[in-house]
Amino acid sequence: MRAIQIINAGGPEVLNPAELPDPEPGPGELLVGVAAAGVNYIDVYQRNGTYPMAMPYVPGLEGAGRVLALGPDVTDFAVGDRVAWVEALGSYAERVTVVADKAVPVPPGVSDEVAAGLLLQGMTAHFLVNDTHPVQHGEDVLVHAAAGGVGLLLTQLAAARGARVIATVSTAEKEELARAAGAADVIRYGEVADLADAVRNLTGGAGVHAAYDSVGRSTFDASLASLRRRGMLVLFGGSSGPVPPVDPMRLNAGGSLFLTRPKLFDYISTPEELRTRATDVFAEVVDGTLDVRIGHRYALADAATAHEDLQGRRTTGKLLLLP
Ligand code: NDP
Repeated sequence: MRAIQIINAGGPEVLNPAELPDPEPGPGELLVGVAAAGVNYIDVYQRNGTYPMAMPYVPGLEGAGRVLALGPDVTDFAVGDRVAWVEALGSYAERVTVVADKAVPVPPGVSDEVAAGLLLQGMTAHFLVNDTHPVQHGEDVLVHAAAGGVGLLLTQLAAARGARVIATVSTAEKEELARAAGAADVIRYGEVADLADAVRNLTGGAGVHAAYDSVGRSTFDASLASLRRRGMLVLFGGSSGPVPPVDPMRLNAGGSLFLTRPKLFDYISTPEELRTRATDVFAEVVDGTLDVRIGHRYALADAATAHEDLQGRRTTGKLLLLP
């Protein structure tokens, strides 16, 4: 099969096409034909060595496609079923094995592209607004990188829960997308002298109930300074780089603030939780609450270009590789 292989950690140039044997499904596993693989920032962290990986490996965790074969002891799925997944390393390939407990059925009415474009980032937006900081009607929340993959979905879900979303983006095109997703106010980081002041001005001086920050190093201080008393900073990524160590007394000085650094895999840690969360986000697509914007499609062999574009801030919405 055709796949992307990484032999040494490094820049996007280490993502090279290779001809590899088909994977064999072991006990409890499915062999799946990949219709679309999702590109996520975690693929960048794994590729560049931020998260160390055993080499060589086929990158990619997310995708959607059709079951081609069943390993021993699989009872929940049949050959031909449409499934999606977010934890199958090796998804940048024509075929991948997926642990059956980590696969979710794709409902009719949701295409393979939408399933692969939704699942990881949609379930992330879902746990952030429902569980990490349960967004309440009438709250003010800050969403950074609001035209990105997670950002557009998070903006839609927070707005649908009745929050007033203050979004940050870098360009006019991204501003338009953030507004269409439901942001009430949009700040272009480059155009304000002080981001936290701009957020405070929009909230009558009070600050926001929650700041959802996936950008990390370059926005962390402003996010903390944008919170109201007892507000929560949800730091869930580091697109601009990791945040240096934080003195807990800053939380005290800022007004008894909360800081959390969550990850999706702790919010889908059992097959039941994965199924429930996936079912919820698929339902929100079917009922029109969530619109999944596939911003960019690439041939499998162009995985390096996809990573360059993602890191170069040239993308909006979801990036897919089409094997
Ligand atoms: P995005 O589509 O959001 O792309 C990253 C965006 O971040 C860019 O488009 C850019 O938007 C913004 N950005 C700001 N500064 C930089 C910079 N210096 N370099 C690159 N980008 C920058 O990516 P994803 O939706 O895939 O992921 C967003 C973040 O969410 C990542 O940090 C990822 O790790 C995290 N994440 C965390 C999860 C978790 O469970 N904790 C799960 C899923 C994602 P702009 O041009 O508008 O500034």
